[in-house]
Formats: sequence, C-alpha cells, structure tokens
Amino acid sequence: MSKYFRKKKSLERETRIAKERVAILKERIEREPESAFAKSYTKTLLKISKKYRIRLPAGFLSRLCRDCNNYRVLGKTAKIRIFKGKRIVICNCGRKEKA
Ligand SMILES: [Zn+2]
Repeated sequence: MSKYFRKKKSLERETRIAKERVAILKERIEREPESAFAKSYTKTLLKISKKYRIRLPAGFLSRLCRDCNNYRVLGKTAKIRIFKGKRIVICNCGRKEKA
C-alpha cells in the first residue's frame, strides 16, 4: 500500500465520521433548540462542516443566527413581528432579520 493511498483512505474515513457527527449534532439542535448546549453544538457543527466541506441544507443554515449561533425556532428561540408590512424575525439575542 503506497503512502498516498493510505492518506486518501484515512481522509475518506475521517469525512465519513465527520458526516455522522454533523448528522447527530443537527438532530440534537433541531430536537432541543432551547437547551444550554444548543449554541455550542452549532459552533462545533459549523467548524466540522467547514473543515470537511460538508454541505448543510439551506433551510438549516438560514435558521441560524449570524451573531450568536442560535437555532431560531419561532415561538421558542425567536419571535416574529410585522414592521411596515414586512415580516421580521427577531432572535433572542436581539438581531433582526427579514423573513
Ligand atoms: Zn442571535
């Protein structure tokens, strides 16, 4: 087995493990967005997905707060308000975004 081949094999294995971790973290975040660990889960998830270039679903990414890494669920970790006829999602940290 050549050196190159070994490296490729181990990278494949790492990527597979990373994908598993991302799936587990994503499920936990979606299940309990209010828990004290949700933000750190999100941080870890983003780190892993960047390192191993794992694409996350757009629907999931758009629900993350850019300031505090909060997973925004309306009525739980975010609220929605109408301002000048437009919907605005307000995160628990105070960041406002158009919805
Ligand atoms: Zn926030």
